[in-house]
Amino acid sequence: SLGVWGFLDRPEHWHKDFPIAKGDRQSPVDINTSTAVHDPALKPLSLCYEQATSQRIVNNGHSFNVEFDSSQDKGVLEGGPLAGTYRLIQFHFHWGSSDGQGSEHTVDKKKYAAEVRPFFFFFCSFKMPTGIHYLPGLQKIVDVLDSIKTKGKSVEFTGFDPRDLLPGSLDYWTYPGSLTTPPLLESVTWIVLREPISVSSGQMMKFRTLNFNKEGEPEHPMVDNWRPTQPLKNRQIRASFQ
Ligand SMILES: [Zn+2]
Repeated sequence: SLGVWGFLDRPEHWHKDFPIAKGDRQSPVDINTSTAVHDPALKPLSLCYEQATSQRIVNNGHSFNVEFDSSQDKGVLEGGPLAGTYRLIQFHFHWGSSDGQGSEHTVDKKKYAAEVRPFFFFFCSFKMPTGIHYLPGLQKIVDVLDSIKTKGKSVEFTGFDPRDLLPGSLDYWTYPGSLTTPPLLESVTWIVLREPISVSSGQMMKFRTLNFNKEGEPEHPMVDNWRPTQPLKNRQIRASFQ
């Protein structure tokens, strides 16, 4: 009932159905900040989110997606390591069963409480704050999670501004990688923002009230929907900053 793949049957088994899981450019990876190389040729990221129109929020049984109208160039990303213009289609999160884990990418082996992922290939990691700090944008999401508690549920979710989830600095690391859920296709240019954003423990607890299962099925809390880091193999992580 949890589909052909899931986090309950553990990512280490995905390779049986998706052999590319053991491929040469899998994600996520650990970002070793001392071996990442500054590349002065990397351009700054250009994010145009002003026109982005959120439409719906949906529990897909692995995470929840905030979906955007991508029929026109409304929310777009250009520059950085990219050639061309990329439309914002959706963003989703990965999170843990406790605040000490949840992110997929790690920085010098440090795990963060969650990772937020616009576009499938763009993310910033959350760090736990020292005090209580609500991201106003994140709270809007937290407030609707009760309506999408189980797999397949969705509700209208309009007027969300994805800029509310961006940190102050757009310094980034970039490397060639893959989707982190099946089919694990190796077609992703990862852009990992250096500066984490803050989330409160209470907001993270609310994420953990979601379920992997459908309504009426045995309850499986949606936690630890992250894939562990994969070998870097023959790849170089580049940094946009010194
Ligand atoms: Zn993801």
